[in-house]
Amino acid sequence: MKPVAEREIRASFVNCTKGEVKRLAVPKDLGTRPWDDLDFLGWQDPSSPSRAYLVAEQGDRLVGVALRRAAPNAGHVRRSMCSLCLTTHTGDGVSLMTARRAGGSGDSVGAYICTDLACSLYLRGKKDVGIGGRMPESLTLEEKITRTAANLSEFLQKVTA
Ligand SMILES: [Zn+2]
Repeated sequence: MKPVAEREIRASFVNCTKGEVKRLAVPKDLGTRPWDDLDFLGWQDPSSPSRAYLVAEQGDRLVGVALRRAAPNAGHVRRSMCSLCLTTHTGDGVSLMTARRAGGSGDSVGAYICTDLACSLYLRGKKDVGIGGRMPESLTLEEKITRTAANLSEFLQKVTA
């Protein structure tokens, strides 16, 4: 994706109040993010691990959503698959993230997503998955990226619908 500035990120959120947008923690390291390898920008709030954010280009606009991470099942070893990039992680590597729907209906939409939101880097083999890993597939990287983008669009459409 194209590099984005803090101002653009704050302007992109579709499911937050103005006050929430003002307070939310935008990453301080935007200048050094590996933009060429990112399909979307995702991060966890360093001061509150239950909050995460995702910003992606959708057509010619930037769409940002605030996510709530469900509490992990402590002590229970499990494997789960990210619904965006289809990477399998053990333990807390995948979390159920919920996003309030835009428009103030009070509904929310949930999806299992890599807890660190580093889907783009797992896809490209730029971040180690550890135990678990990716299922061998005959798709090319380009095809996997396209599929992840489609999964993400579908999720964002549910949030913005
Ligand atoms: Zn993922």
